[in-house]
Amino acid sequence: MDKSFSLQGFGSAAIHSGHQQDPMYAHQTPVYASSTYVYDTAEQGMRRFSGEEPGYIYSRWGNPTIAEAERKITALETFRLNIEAKGLLHASGMAAISTLFLSTLKAGDKIISHYSLYGGSDELMDKLLPEYGISSEIIDLRDLNKTEETLKNDRSIKLMYLETPANPTIQCVDIEELTKLARKYNLIVACDNTFATPYLQQPFKYGVDYIVHSTTKFLNGHGTAIGGILVGTDIEFMRTKMTKSHRLLGGNSNPFDAFLLTQGIKTLEIRMQRHCSNAMQVAKYLEDHAAVARVNYEGLPSHPDHAIAMKQMRNAGGMLSFELKSGLQAGIDFMNRLKMCVRTVSLGTVDTLLSHPASMTHYSVPKEQRERYGITDGLIRMNVGIENVEDIINDLEQALG
Ligand code: PLP
Repeated sequence: MDKSFSLQGFGSAAIHSGHQQDPMYAHQTPVYASSTYVYDTAEQGMRRFSGEEPGYIYSRWGNPTIAEAERKITALETFRLNIEAKGLLHASGMAAISTLFLSTLKAGDKIISHYSLYGGSDELMDKLLPEYGISSEIIDLRDLNKTEETLKNDRSIKLMYLETPANPTIQCVDIEELTKLARKYNLIVACDNTFATPYLQQPFKYGVDYIVHSTTKFLNGHGTAIGGILVGTDIEFMRTKMTKSHRLLGGNSNPFDAFLLTQGIKTLEIRMQRHCSNAMQVAKYLEDHAAVARVNYEGLPSHPDHAIAMKQMRNAGGMLSFELKSGLQAGIDFMNRLKMCVRTVSLGTVDTLLSHPASMTHYSVPKEQRERYGITDGLIRMNVGIENVEDIINDLEQALG
């Protein structure tokens, strides 16, 4: 695309942004399956290593297929915001989150975060980081007074980590208000934007410093690759310390997964539109069903965080969870009766996926502990896919009995 052409729509940006003409004139940037790159002369090698001449050196440090995905996601997270940013593609969402924490924090520092969080992020903060002297304060970040009180009383808190909407309760926190608080206390702010994607929510709009994604989910969209990205607006820090950590920790992506990701992102807008409209119809259907005690979907006015979600999101997304009245066995029976919807963990794919945390991901977590995080016996998490919605509802109807 000619650089002088200014794209007006997010869908066009998802298709065209980040692309550079391949030197062999391939329409799609190929999978550059090469671990290393050659130099015409030793002097050229010297110039590449010194940074005097641009060019690839080694694929853990950079690769053309990976670079295209990095540019594309960065362009979407900053689309029409007039903000500069840099993205680093990782082998997984967890690798991106680990690079973020290990590059911005040191022993003695603390993270503040919300209690409803992806299990891996929670475990990283709870189990692994304390071994390196980094601890966490996990509170209800929807309570802004309590949050300010905590920040006022604990000056070792250096990073605020947001995930909104959060896994699996679909709770939302106020990015704008929390970022203002974080600024007041000199904190770095990072936001996991996996559930929303940049189509529905752009945390950089509110001054967040870093955005992370599990690209495994909606960005890829087809369940074909594990991946993660870390995007930051402090370009100098991203180019220096963050790039160094990314290279040394070795959580880099690979060209094949990056290729799949780039192809997936091109349809992000139309996929998200369909995820949202299907999820809203499914949520309304479930809310009226006699076997369902509660539906957690931030698009519904009954969701406690509906107002926050509508303030910062274009639409409510494709994720919801609901609680069956009859508990554990009802959850297992429901899952076993599904005929089209898929029984699996993960999310963000074109097909509808359901999981029953109490019998699957959280099977080994004691009941009292998981219930504290809203994971009750009858809770079902649902990635509402982009099939025709009548088929999704028909499958739920026969499975609910
Ligand atoms: N963040 C969120 C919100 C997630 O749901 C997940 C995984 O489910 C992750 C991060 C971790 O991503 P990955 O599995 O790609 O490492």
